[in-house]
Amino acid sequence: MAIRLQGVEKTYAARGGNDQVFALRGINLDIPRGNIVGVIGKSGAGKSTLIRLINGLELPTAGKVIVDGVEVSALSEKQVRDERRSIGMIFQHFNLLARRTAYGNVALPLEIAGVPAAEIKKRVLPLLDLVGLADKADRYPSELSGGQKQRVGIARALATKPKVLLSDEATSALDPETTESILALLRQVNAEFNLTVLLITHEMSVIKAVADRVAVIEGGHIVEQGPTYDVFTQPTNATTRKFVSELTGTALPEHIRNRIVSAPAVGKQAYVTLTFKGEGAAQPFLSVLTRRLGLDFGIIQAKVDHIHGKPFGTLVISADATPEKLDALQTEASTLGLETEVLGYA
Ligand code: ADP
Repeated sequence: MAIRLQGVEKTYAARGGNDQVFALRGINLDIPRGNIVGVIGKSGAGKSTLIRLINGLELPTAGKVIVDGVEVSALSEKQVRDERRSIGMIFQHFNLLARRTAYGNVALPLEIAGVPAAEIKKRVLPLLDLVGLADKADRYPSELSGGQKQRVGIARALATKPKVLLSDEATSALDPETTESILALLRQVNAEFNLTVLLITHEMSVIKAVADRVAVIEGGHIVEQGPTYDVFTQPTNATTRKFVSELTGTALPEHIRNRIVSAPAVGKQAYVTLTFKGEGAAQPFLSVLTRRLGLDFGIIQAKVDHIHGKPFGTLVISADATPEKLDALQTEASTLGLETEVLGYA
């Protein structure tokens, strides 16, 4: 089930005044069927509003929200309620009922939908098994860890056999290791049920781990979107670069940054950033450059990462190089598919 937002705008009346708050503006977003699409943004960027528009809790002020070919804003209230049944949701704070067991929580949406008890049992037990909680069916939320609670949340979201799963900061309250296991589970259910997943997060590591595509949202606008690998390796927007740099961490160490100047001088080392991705990343480029240029390099910072099995990274190197040698370095590097930036001399 695909989701499409076309020219979507959402304004709220500001509290206690006549002003309007533009929560979302000019939103065009395609979430193809079976894809995992991540939306990343800071607090107040408009992420929750986006989710509420997709599940029909809010109507857009302008534009269209189309879920599975149906324009949500054109539906009656009853139709929206039916529609919502084909959308599963998971939350940052799990939203489990404390007085129901894991089983009872997963069964709840089925009870509401009027599914007979025998049928409910046939559905709930395999779901608890799927999320790795077959032995915790009778436990109450207070007896479960954060990760286990989110597993119950995922089983509950899947109970009505939705075609779309909306994840609202579902791993934000979890430690990194638990986050990883929950994201792996999301990938698993995405593949197993060809589930379309929209996940909202403020963490680039979450996007990197699971999203096929990413949209960066700021001040109610999508400032950049595309395949995750492309956005990571070629961010064009300043906000995106900031999110990406949280992971790539390639700023110069402070003690060098404080000494760096733009003019070369005898006895100073040149500092250069090499960025590599795709084919270029797979070659032994540093030794090729050393051979071709007769230059020796020191490694100041290095970070290599992988998205969907494809490597990318940045390297800050130092070399005893004249400006002419640096020109030659930049030319050679570009023939190897690397991008370079001369940071200066220190
Ligand atoms: P995020 O989920 O990224 O933190 P939100 O979608 O919650 O962002 O909010 C986007 C903007 O819309 C914010 O400026 C917020 O204050 C405003 N907003 C959200 N909901 C309402 C509301 N019900 N009434 C007024 N303003 C709202």
